[in-house]
Amino acid sequence: MDTMMKKFFTELVEAPSPSGFEQPAQEVYRKFVKDLADEVKTDVHGNVIAKKEGTGKLKLMLVGHADEIGLMINYIDDNGFLRFKPVGGVDYTLLSGLRVNIYGKNNKMYRGVIGRKPIHLLKPEERKKAPNYEELWIDFGAKDKKDAEKRVEIGNIATFAPGLEELNGDIVTSKATDNKAGVYVVAAVLKHLQKEKVAANIYSVAAVQEEIGLRGSTTSSYGVNPDVGIAIDVTHATDYPGLDKNSLGDIKLGKGPVISVGANINPKVFELLKKAAKQAKVKYQIEAAPRATGTDANAIQTTRAGVATGLISIPNRYMHTPNEVVALSDLDDAAKLLAEFAKLVDENTDFIPKI
Ligand SMILES: [Zn+2]
Repeated sequence: MDTMMKKFFTELVEAPSPSGFEQPAQEVYRKFVKDLADEVKTDVHGNVIAKKEGTGKLKLMLVGHADEIGLMINYIDDNGFLRFKPVGGVDYTLLSGLRVNIYGKNNKMYRGVIGRKPIHLLKPEERKKAPNYEELWIDFGAKDKKDAEKRVEIGNIATFAPGLEELNGDIVTSKATDNKAGVYVVAAVLKHLQKEKVAANIYSVAAVQEEIGLRGSTTSSYGVNPDVGIAIDVTHATDYPGLDKNSLGDIKLGKGPVISVGANINPKVFELLKKAAKQAKVKYQIEAAPRATGTDANAIQTTRAGVATGLISIPNRYMHTPNEVVALSDLDDAAKLLAEFAKLVDENTDFIPKI
């Protein structure tokens, strides 16, 4: 990944954007795509849709969800500690002792830490159990409730604090690569095609609220009404201790984007994605998905009378933790693959499943 693109990805992952509040990441996306698209629009739900006009009629939608998991402040106690509710799939066993960024009043950011009773003071039975969120709080140094309320109000959001850091060359760690990786890819496809005219009209969407129920892809697919829709998300790499290849398959970091196959995927789209990978000289991996996937691909496929759908995933270790791990080359390869795919489809491509 070159320096400019790495800067873009760093800004994306570091923008605090839990579901329902994606504006910071959306702004980073909007700035990046503004000169690469013919039109950039935000819909009433908050999805940012960048359209590159094609020479033909086919509409190809690429969706990466811009939201990340987080915490929503729901109560400020008399001592100025903030209580919270989860936004999306938060693992409480990880929370105590973490640093978080609170997106407070007037869009100002404050650092906080998640507090819990220390180990010395836990009863033996408490030590064995993970705390649930009622036993945790955010401490951001407030003197009392009144002092806290100067900076934070109910409904404000906090996200994990760790930004992007290199572990070993191509392998990086950060919070929220799920799914700023997908937003990166849908933007990078437009960059690849910047100087080209293709038949397909491309709609690159930074969608909202995936982590709380595939909501932004539902509304944006209805609005765009695409012929073909591809979701770009992360998937579990199975190359680290404790993951079972027998049930999860063999997915490795740095071995290229993952193409899903199964009920959620149109067979013709699947074939063309593999063809595109070959033409782009990109290695890829295959993941079996026998039923609906838990991704935006599911919402896209069942839009209106149905959409020819595909799913491209970026291998990810430690998903939904403050320190997910991805290989940057997988992101760039996914973008190359999809830019090639965009050249392979037009209004004459037949996506009706056949034997
Ligand atoms: Zn997720």
